[in-house]
Amino acid sequence: MHSAFIYSEKLAEVKAPKGYPWLFDRSESTYQLCKKLHLLDYDWMSICIPKPANTEEVLNFHSKKYINLLKKANKGIFEEEWLRYGLGTTECPVFKGVYDYHALAAGATLQGAELINEGKADVVFSPTGGFHHAGKDFAAGFCYINDIVLAIKKWLRQRKRVFYIDIDAHHGDQVQEAFYSTSKVMTVSFHESGHTLFPFKTGFENEIGRGNGKGYTINVPLPENTSDEEFLWAFDNIFLPVAQAFQPDVVMAVLGADVLFSDPFSNLQLTNDAISKALQAIQQVSPKLLVLGSGGYVREDIARTWALAWAIMNDLGPREEDFSAFGGMFWGDGLSSLKDRPHFVPENIKEKTQTEIRRVVRSIEKSVFAILKINP
Ligand SMILES: [Zn+2]
Repeated sequence: MHSAFIYSEKLAEVKAPKGYPWLFDRSESTYQLCKKLHLLDYDWMSICIPKPANTEEVLNFHSKKYINLLKKANKGIFEEEWLRYGLGTTECPVFKGVYDYHALAAGATLQGAELINEGKADVVFSPTGGFHHAGKDFAAGFCYINDIVLAIKKWLRQRKRVFYIDIDAHHGDQVQEAFYSTSKVMTVSFHESGHTLFPFKTGFENEIGRGNGKGYTINVPLPENTSDEEFLWAFDNIFLPVAQAFQPDVVMAVLGADVLFSDPFSNLQLTNDAISKALQAIQQVSPKLLVLGSGGYVREDIARTWALAWAIMNDLGPREEDFSAFGGMFWGDGLSSLKDRPHFVPENIKEKTQTEIRRVVRSIEKSVFAILKINP
């Protein structure tokens, strides 16, 4: 096995506008934690330094008009007119270096796709990627350049069958939109329901693709307070059968740490144990795998969760025997320090969540499984 960790210290050099919650040092803090725990010391691993995506690459999805504005915004100047393109809002402010950062982040994801295309890596991790809300000609939800769409398009040009699995508190709306009418890309998104969270208008279970793409989009909206057990039940019932039916050549996975109970921007109650277990299932069905970070707004938690993900991708994850029981030293200094403590929600809330998730899963089985010829 060859694995690659994509990282550049340049990504952490952006000076964030005051109060803007995006953590520009997400790959830096993940990298430093991995280094501290000797998770980058093995001979099958390489650390790759990305180059910025060039204009031609970015225009494979985005409009010329929008990209020209984003390049102007790079100087830190702002014109009111740009608000039409989502630029200069509180969630997508204009700041010095905005284009440089997002072009480099997109370059990192594209490099990951390329390493897989060239057979140089089987598993790649770019913690900085995953800007799933960026539209063709607009910025939204902290996302300016849609690295995911660009990388999937790169794979499609190589005639690959692409499976995109998005686990993040927020619906992967613009990735869904880009591939809504094709059967060559299967997009599956697990996220907090739009009834309670951004982007509000999309990500419901009845959105299943159109035309040739009907049955190739799946949405699993999770009610607020969903915890590990209910999430993993839904994941096992949907993800594995669909991935096995689709038979992908390549898989891209987004592992947003904003699904964690500690995250201030969502109402889910997951721990990183759920992310780990989902990742293990993803690995089972992935001939080649590109993993991206995406959301996550607590520095320590994203670093722990993504370092844990990197360990699992390399079959180095902490073993159960590394954990002592309650009352013992649950968090050590080693690999076991990466895992969240168990987190429980009250039974009455759990029952409500379970009922809603069962309804959603049954609805997907009814609509999509029939098209994909899967027996539930
Ligand atoms: Zn998110």
